[in-house]
Amino acid sequence: MDTVILKGKDVSSRIKENLAIQISNLKLKGIIPCLAAIIVGKNPASKLYVNSKAKTFKNMNCDSEIFTLDSDIDEKDLLFLIEKINNDTKFHGILVQLPLPKHLNEEKILEKINPEKDVDGFHPKNKGYLMQGNPSFIPCTPYGCLKILEYYNIDTNGKNIVVIGRSNIVGKPIASLLSQNTKYGNGTVTLCHSRTKNLSDFTKKADIIVAAVGIPHLINKDMIKDGVHIIDVGINRIDDKSKDKGYRVVGDVDFDNVLEKVSSITPVPGGVGVMTVTMLLSNTVKAAFNQIK
Ligand code: NAD
Repeated sequence: MDTVILKGKDVSSRIKENLAIQISNLKLKGIIPCLAAIIVGKNPASKLYVNSKAKTFKNMNCDSEIFTLDSDIDEKDLLFLIEKINNDTKFHGILVQLPLPKHLNEEKILEKINPEKDVDGFHPKNKGYLMQGNPSFIPCTPYGCLKILEYYNIDTNGKNIVVIGRSNIVGKPIASLLSQNTKYGNGTVTLCHSRTKNLSDFTKKADIIVAAVGIPHLINKDMIKDGVHIIDVGINRIDDKSKDKGYRVVGDVDFDNVLEKVSSITPVPGGVGVMTVTMLLSNTVKAAFNQIK
């Protein structure tokens, strides 16, 4: 089978071309889209993600400011900072890098972000709009998955789509996006999770699989049918002594094992991950436009 590798970089480049025009138009009005990224504690992965977001913004002539807070920060101080950024017209978007330390109430903190600046799409108001089929800010990773389907013209109309993973930031919003009455999100969606019995009973019937679990190589060729399209959201480190770092990054799908059977698949790395940052930029540019209206 001629398998298509769904390259996030190609999709991202197309989106960035369009964003560059929008960013130039904003500049003519004296506006530079600006993101406030709040990071609590010293989680190396969170730091890496936030730095890579800042780099993308810089490369696209946008601004970002990183607020690094102590891991034992008082909740009320964090809420105060968010309020301050909410009221600062310099910032068009705000994100709080997750996960947060245990003593902080994640829901309360995300709810504090002005929904107009909620470029991660995690505020309950924006989640509600998404459920209604009238999304405002779509969470970046699910949005990136949708854009991949759109770019590669993968038909979802009436298809059996199996989403694996039900997190608030990935699985649930993807399931919602793919079951709406839109061109690239019009499937019959089944949401599988850790309590799903006999996962392969579901995946074997799927025309499209979206894996967002966090278990390396959970999905193999015996669990899928011929010609399936696979979007692999998983980012997992596995030991690999042949690498300088001692590990490599793989997805939730055993890429090499399934390759001969699938119509298309996103690689890890090089698939969805690239898209997440691009859609954050896209949401921030959108927020900047909204705020001058
Ligand atoms: P999470 O831990 O919050 O959720 C994982 C989900 O998987 C849960 O809903 C759980 O029910 C389900 N699950 C666990 N074991 C299962 C099993 N055996 N069978 C079926 N379902 C099972 O994780 P998350 O934040 O949603 O992230 C999922 C993966 O996506 C992780 O690898 C994460 O690193 C990755 N991720 C990637 C990006 C990106 O930009 N590409 C962004 C966010 C998350």
